[in-house]
Amino acid sequence: MSVLLLNASYEPLTIVSWKRAMTLMLTGRAELVEQDGDRTVRSAGGTEFPYPNVVRLMQMVSFAGMRTTETPRFSKKGLNARDNRECQVAQCDERGSTVDHVIPRSRGGSSSWENCVLMCQEHNGAKGDRTLDQLGWTLKKAPVAPKGAIVLVTARPGWEAWLQPS
Ligand SMILES: [Zn+2]
Repeated sequence: MSVLLLNASYEPLTIVSWKRAMTLMLTGRAELVEQDGDRTVRSAGGTEFPYPNVVRLMQMVSFAGMRTTETPRFSKKGLNARDNRECQVAQCDERGSTVDHVIPRSRGGSSSWENCVLMCQEHNGAKGDRTLDQLGWTLKKAPVAPKGAIVLVTARPGWEAWLQPS
């Protein structure tokens, strides 16, 4: 599960795994701001800790510095948000209901932010195992990994208050 990491200023910084959040807290670098409901997590030593939902760093860190440390994990949910749920083939107004591998998987294309785009069923079906070049298609924009906006994509209950633009 993901944990929202706040800067010492209570501004959202990034998202970390719960293990990372626990490590930050156990080493005194972060404190618990919100528990995830009543959930707890038991350490190897048998001590019970509140399962974190939001944690806060004890010392300010530079936003730019943090941002580069965490590349959001590739997900269909994130892809939907990045591509606005639209087919990414230029000039197409259809819903992007399918995930297309720009370089087909059969040619070694990976499931990644840089190689996946949303496409409508028609375009994805027509593309098959071919590349965009072979078809003469262009995309609305080059696929890249999202940066800060991913926070809103993966927001969990309890994070909203921290993510409101001030
Ligand atoms: Zn389309």
